[in-house]
Amino acid sequence: MLATANAPVPLYDLTRAELLGLFGRWGFAPVHGERLWNYLYLQLAGAFSADALPELPAKVRTRLAAEATLGVLPTALETDSSDGFTRKYLLALADRARIETVLMRFTGRVTACLSTQVGCAMGCVFCATGQMGYTRHLTAGEIVAQAVHVARALRQGGGGRGDEIYPPLAAPKATRAGLLTSAATPRLRNIVLMGMGEPLHNYDAVMHAIDILRDPNGLALGAERITLSTVGVVPGILRLAREKRPLHLAVSLHAATQEERAALVPVAKKWPLDELMAACRTYSETTGRRIFYEWTLIDGKNDSPDHARAVGRLLRGLPAQVNLIPLNPTTGYEGAPTHSAAARQFQHILAQEFSLPSTVRQRRGIDIAAGCGQLAVVEPRRA
Ligand code: SF4
Repeated sequence: MLATANAPVPLYDLTRAELLGLFGRWGFAPVHGERLWNYLYLQLAGAFSADALPELPAKVRTRLAAEATLGVLPTALETDSSDGFTRKYLLALADRARIETVLMRFTGRVTACLSTQVGCAMGCVFCATGQMGYTRHLTAGEIVAQAVHVARALRQGGGGRGDEIYPPLAAPKATRAGLLTSAATPRLRNIVLMGMGEPLHNYDAVMHAIDILRDPNGLALGAERITLSTVGVVPGILRLAREKRPLHLAVSLHAATQEERAALVPVAKKWPLDELMAACRTYSETTGRRIFYEWTLIDGKNDSPDHARAVGRLLRGLPAQVNLIPLNPTTGYEGAPTHSAAARQFQHILAQEFSLPSTVRQRRGIDIAAGCGQLAVVEPRRA
């Protein structure tokens, strides 16, 4: 999104071509734009001042200072899970709204979970963000800045190589003051758009941000390492299919009948289950891609063998994987997470009776309210 007249240009909103175009309109040589791009995405700039870019001519720095803004998101609160593998950031936006970004370390990979909206209009009953309601869309720059925030934190924190089990995040704190640039510094390689908000409700900004994140001269995130999760915005799924965007799609299902789904996911009243499944079929047929179907396991609600068989029948013949996610408890919903034995039985039925691959997702960072929207709800004052 480009700035309106007289408003400073948010630099993280711009693709590389847009940045070079801006420099062209300002009458500056492309090489200066390239230097600024490197500053943003290779040096992972954490501050913006004339002193920070001595390689740029004074007239360029003066114009940037007057007419552009970096768009770095200050940390309002940062907290590590007790197991040390999840770090959650509450980031402050220019209008004082707050969003959550989560850094998760799994064996051999680092993943950033990004928000796409302040709050969410979808109202899923078990979700802390849904309980907040919708405030506004994030700009592309605000989405990109979250990824830059995590990439910078990784570089400054150091620790672990891509093929090792990462040490807990809390361990290397002593080194965080320094800027580590060695090959051992873990790099951000995976993005999931599963934080606060419904990405397909903010389609244009999200796709613009993905274009920026994928730039091979910048963060260079591979499309196969970006996963977008939707609760079932049918027009957005069909548009993704038409545009054949090479990212992974996850669809939050949670129930295999319209009645049960509408009770958990109100948006199912607008886009009923049969329409959603038709859109998913179109997506898979058009793109040749399988879809990850997300199923939040809620004790006594949707975790019985009959529920497992219902989802198996629903997905029969579709290229699919089911991700089972024990519920993250929230204060606004009285459900509890499924016990591990029931989760294993659910998974066993999918595999044995339907040859349907599935995973049971690890519940990461429960002690820091790492479920989407929980920190913003739990900690609005402290931040
Ligand atoms: S689960 Fe996702 S889509 Fe549903 S309310 Fe929460 S943020 Fe919105």
